[in-house]
Amino acid sequence: MPTSATQVFFAAVGDVHGHMNRMVNHLRHATDVFHQQFDFVLQVGDFEPHRDEADLATMAAPAKYRHLGDFDAYHRLRRGFPWPVYFIGGNHEPYGYLDTHPEGFELTRHCHYLGRVGVMDLHGLRVVGLSGVYSEEHFTKQRPPLSALGSVSNKDFTYFNERDLEQALELKHADVLLLHDWPSGVITPEDAARFEGQRRSPSYDAVGNDYARLLVDALQPKLVLCGHLHQHYAGTLQHPSGKKTEVRCLSSVEEGWSAFAYYELAGESLYTLGITD
Ligand SMILES: [Zn+2]
Repeated sequence: MPTSATQVFFAAVGDVHGHMNRMVNHLRHATDVFHQQFDFVLQVGDFEPHRDEADLATMAAPAKYRHLGDFDAYHRLRRGFPWPVYFIGGNHEPYGYLDTHPEGFELTRHCHYLGRVGVMDLHGLRVVGLSGVYSEEHFTKQRPPLSALGSVSNKDFTYFNERDLEQALELKHADVLLLHDWPSGVITPEDAARFEGQRRSPSYDAVGNDYARLLVDALQPKLVLCGHLHQHYAGTLQHPSGKKTEVRCLSSVEEGWSAFAYYELAGESLYTLGITD
């Protein structure tokens, strides 16, 4: 019998901020366009899976950004994710809920948190995730225990630290790496003007953090997916080994198409699939 190359079709989604319905609607539309269902969906943090007000109270965010969002209906199985969704934590998450399982867990059907540092084999694709954002002040500190919730700032739970990074480095290699904030050095000087021309854009060479970059250089994944800035960008990093990493930075689902990307894995090769609307 002839053997055909394995084909895996998946989507990547930027910051969701509780807008799960909008995410699912947009992805459903994409499956209509592609005439194919996703094998899985990867999400880069700021997912905001709040079950209730108590979860919401454990998120670090100013009052105007505190909304319960859509997740409660998914958690109570009134709605469902049509494809398995795998997400990491960003800097706006109910860490009082997520940190009950720092190693990751299934929150509800088809909804899986990768943990502070996680690795999954998805259809032969090795997906590694690092939750949280970088802070110089917090990098060498231990995260507070869950029991400290309420007596320390919620923000103290939103950072990755040295231990997380070491744990991620020990994973040695990845096909896809999920990060919330961008790795440093992704934007080329040629793209600087276009990038900085976007609304509320930081200086192009101040974007991202060096520890995320260190992880990219060590794991040399085919693809890095990140969010956080609500800006989209596609870049390539070339490693001394000759390997290349595609870096896809996604905006937030409220901004529409620029929060989504689509990929097909055929054999060893990963292809980016375009969509026009
Ligand atoms: Zn965000």
